[in-house]
Amino acid sequence: MQSFEIENDIQQLLKWFEKNARSLPWREQRTPYKIWVSEIMLQQTRVEAVRGYFERFMKALPSISDLAVVSEDELLKLWEGLGYYNRVRNMQRAACVVCEQYQGELPADYQTLLKLPGIGSYTAGAIASQAFDIPEPAVDGNVLRVLARIDGDDRDIADLSVKKEIEERLRHVMQTVLPDRRAGDFNQALMELGAIVCVPNGVPKCEQCPMQYRCRAYKEDSWSLLPVKTPKKPRVIEDKTVLIIVNDREVLIRKRDSKGLLAGMYEFPNTEGCLDEKTVLDYVAGLGLMSLRIEPLPGAKHIFTHREWHMKAYRIHIADETEADRLMKNMQFVNRQQIETTYAVPSAFSIFTKYVSI
Ligand code: SF4
Repeated sequence: MQSFEIENDIQQLLKWFEKNARSLPWREQRTPYKIWVSEIMLQQTRVEAVRGYFERFMKALPSISDLAVVSEDELLKLWEGLGYYNRVRNMQRAACVVCEQYQGELPADYQTLLKLPGIGSYTAGAIASQAFDIPEPAVDGNVLRVLARIDGDDRDIADLSVKKEIEERLRHVMQTVLPDRRAGDFNQALMELGAIVCVPNGVPKCEQCPMQYRCRAYKEDSWSLLPVKTPKKPRVIEDKTVLIIVNDREVLIRKRDSKGLLAGMYEFPNTEGCLDEKTVLDYVAGLGLMSLRIEPLPGAKHIFTHREWHMKAYRIHIADETEADRLMKNMQFVNRQQIETTYAVPSAFSIFTKYVSI
């Protein structure tokens, strides 16, 4: 790694960060807890989308002990729309450990942070450096892209051994060349550079880049070839039929299993495959509900990391709720408003929430 081996490179980067760092809610009155929450939210989610979630989350759960004891339904509701729900479940598990073993404060030690549920090398490095000024790297996709371009490094960044080696080199730089009390700024500066200048999609803004003078991708005009990343496997496509079953006041929802995809969240009843109207009506009758009418709704597509749901949908009007005594335990009728206020419905299904009102 040629980048950041000399003090001048680091100074250039830090100066750029001082002038250009975006004003973000988690950068104000920073605490280890705020840094942790923001870092977990920012994984796979854009900064602009995270702002509102972050403020709402901190208001509802201002301390680690609040996070440890909040109910699952409330926790998932606060996370609703951010996706990757295991992240917030792991946060709660980690919060319990922190309350039991560390008096409710995140430990100021990189290796101890790494042992907490859901905290990998990136998050441990981000918390350690920003909250406690420990010189540990925080290498995410932004950082890998920036370094691959500066160094003209054409190794596959999806290869974990490459990431590990880059972490080792950055650690060495941070522990030998970086000025004191700048560990957090250094990590944030690299990430910020990747987020707003050496951008992931589209042309990098090299004319604004503090590292242009030593960037190989800039000199060789090879930014579009870097970083090299093995393409992901194609997603598995799954057909589904989603049923919005309503009576005069309510709608039927179902709680998903406590394990697996979208665990513990609420959904509209749905089945595998593309069902026709007759099969849907048989299904509804099998639940002990009397259908009055059925109408097809516009379908929708939802994309997960490794799969894609192609969803057909129907709205079924039923006689009333009193016939619902054969419903399975995980199903319940709820007021239409409660869908908005109380139950965490993942984006895959919230697409259909607008059809809940007749
Ligand atoms: Fe990225 Fe351009 Fe800066 Fe190189 S000079 S790191 S390609 S923005």
